[in-house]
Amino acid sequence: MHPEKRPTSDLVVRGGAVVLPEGVRPACLDIIDGVIQRVLPYDTPLNQRQIIDVRDAVVMPGLVDTHVHCNEPGRSEWEGFAYATRAAAAGGVTTVIDMPLNSIPATTTTTALRTKLEAARNQCWVDVGFLGGVVPGNAGDLRPLLDEGVFGFKCFLCESGVPEFPEVGMEELRLALRVLHGLPSFLLVHAEMDDVLNSPVRDFLALPALLRRQYLHYLASRPAAAETEAIGMLIKLCRQFAVPIHILHLSAAQALPDLAQAQREGLRISVETCPHYLFFAAEDIADGATELKCAPPIREAANRERLWEGLRAGVIGSVASDHSPCPPTLKRKATGDFASSWGGIASLQISLPALWTSARQRGFDVSDVARWMCQSPAAMVGLDHRKGALAPGKDADLVCWRPDASFRVEESSLRHRHKLTPYAGRELFGIVEWTMVRGQIVFTEGQVHPQAQGKILMRGAR
Ligand SMILES: [Zn+2]
Repeated sequence: MHPEKRPTSDLVVRGGAVVLPEGVRPACLDIIDGVIQRVLPYDTPLNQRQIIDVRDAVVMPGLVDTHVHCNEPGRSEWEGFAYATRAAAAGGVTTVIDMPLNSIPATTTTTALRTKLEAARNQCWVDVGFLGGVVPGNAGDLRPLLDEGVFGFKCFLCESGVPEFPEVGMEELRLALRVLHGLPSFLLVHAEMDDVLNSPVRDFLALPALLRRQYLHYLASRPAAAETEAIGMLIKLCRQFAVPIHILHLSAAQALPDLAQAQREGLRISVETCPHYLFFAAEDIADGATELKCAPPIREAANRERLWEGLRAGVIGSVASDHSPCPPTLKRKATGDFASSWGGIASLQISLPALWTSARQRGFDVSDVARWMCQSPAAMVGLDHRKGALAPGKDADLVCWRPDASFRVEESSLRHRHKLTPYAGRELFGIVEWTMVRGQIVFTEGQVHPQAQGKILMRGAR
């Protein structure tokens, strides 16, 4: 082609280390209208309006975090879309999938979904999609919710922590799976079995206050058996109903052999874990350190290493933050009481460095991170036609970061509404330089763009 006849690109990103599906190499991304048109050799001559040349940092697909509690409307004082998505932008997360609970109303009807869409409008700095919820009595709402654009459905098998999102029993679960059979959707499950938890939780709550500050007692109240039993049951249901099932936040490594077997059998059962299960270990959790309370709980170091092996083997396909913040008073730091503390860890902005810091120690590379935090989660929610990889036709959602640079997590740099996080004061590897959503820089030089340019994502839309 004659040089002056070349089409003009809006933007060209040249990088010395670009994370492509086939590996990390120097490359040039030709971007028009926020979409990657071509992936070319680094030094391909192009006409462009704007160029970004990154020689000594990694250019990776933006993270797709499929497990985020934005808590709006209804509990906006816990976080809200604006705070969550600005933190996401600062952390290299370009797609957030919002959980159906902790907002009021919970996203279990189309009316509630519309209320949530209204709350999210003009409040999103990155792209945001939604999950619906399965609760007792709403089987008839699932199909309409799917038609209105939710990506999948979440349910609990034990108490969720909020009254407006009750857990489902076996009959309700079967009913939901019958409705979802054959539909382009999937069921995400908080897999801890209620009847296994009942007596250990009761024993824990009966302990004197001083003992409720000790992490080992909280850990004992949520035994691994609650997860393994739930997962065994879900594998059977997955076989029976042929609806894809996603195990949220796996903590108990004991469940991995059964999950591996189910996947070998060809069942569509996918598994995620979270940075905190891969970073922390129960043995190191101090009395009263309620910033580390979540459910299922963080288990022992030996369990953590087996989770890493699950990732290495591919049984665990994705890593999501399960960002679940709340006002600091609800974490009960004053008393350090694990019983009354809110169970949730805030980490959306730092999930990339938290995961990477642990991954690099174990010999993983940035391609592994891209598979766990970009490609697999995008595929899991059905967004892989436009998110999760750097390839022609995908959105130009990019994070530029320095894997070998380290920083100390300071509260002042966190954009979550509340700064309480177990990573505070930690030295982590992986500094995010800039974040781009559909060709627009949303975070650079420590600053989030003043305007909210994120889009609402709907299942089935381009
Ligand atoms: Zn969650």
